[in-house]
Amino acid sequence: MQHQTTVGRAVTYTGIGLHSGRDVTITLNPAPIDTGIIFARVDLPGAPQVAATAGNVTAAMRATTLETGLAKVFTVEHLLAAFAAMQVDNCRVAIDSVEPPVADGSSLPFVELIRQAGLASQPALRKFIRVNTAQLVRHEDRFIAILPYDGFRISFTSVNPHPLLGVQFGDYEIHPDAFIRDIAPARTIGFMHEVEALKAQGLALGGSLENAVVYDDKTVLTPLRFADELVRHKILDVIGDLALAGCLRGHVVAVKSGHALNTALAQKILASQQATVNG
Ligand SMILES: [Zn+2]
Repeated sequence: MQHQTTVGRAVTYTGIGLHSGRDVTITLNPAPIDTGIIFARVDLPGAPQVAATAGNVTAAMRATTLETGLAKVFTVEHLLAAFAAMQVDNCRVAIDSVEPPVADGSSLPFVELIRQAGLASQPALRKFIRVNTAQLVRHEDRFIAILPYDGFRISFTSVNPHPLLGVQFGDYEIHPDAFIRDIAPARTIGFMHEVEALKAQGLALGGSLENAVVYDDKTVLTPLRFADELVRHKILDVIGDLALAGCLRGHVVAVKSGHALNTALAQKILASQQATVNG
């Protein structure tokens, strides 16, 4: 049987926000059993909170946005992926801006932060959502499905027209060791022409070669960590987005999926009332 966990002590990390380009500080605080992951906007009066659950997703265009009342956070998926894969059930994340630090564009700095805090076991069993019937969300040639499976596995096919990217496939059983080694270091991909357009709109002001794998029309400007870094990062995003449904037992199969479809699947899983089992 597996017990719920929280972080062993409060730990703090400061870095720049991808869109604002300004310093942001997050503190991971221990939280009681059955809290889940909650964000507290400590820069706002009364520190309003929003829970990391699929019902609070209000946008998923470029990044996943969570919102309740005055509490809003976005680009939370890389932090949520680290919590989910490192098996942190309960944490109160104090954040003094609308988005967590971009760090290096991957989940690795958040994994290191969680390791620094350590994990504390709690006197309640972890709740798993066991997928009993297949659930699918699709849009044109993109889809994401989850099938019954005794474990948590993700099989993802990415298709990108860039000559250096093309078709990439990844298939991983998700547990902490595999996540740290194979998935957490994979960074966000960006394209020069997109970055310029975003900066013109006042977005991605913190974006740089230090926090994304950047491609121009023909080449990659950043040394890669993995030849197939793109599909590994897509899997990282799926882990973070599906964590909004809870701790899942199932096999995810996806083609060209992104935040919109991922979070739609998380909502569908919750609405379909799959069996919740303890431990
Ligand atoms: Zn991402």
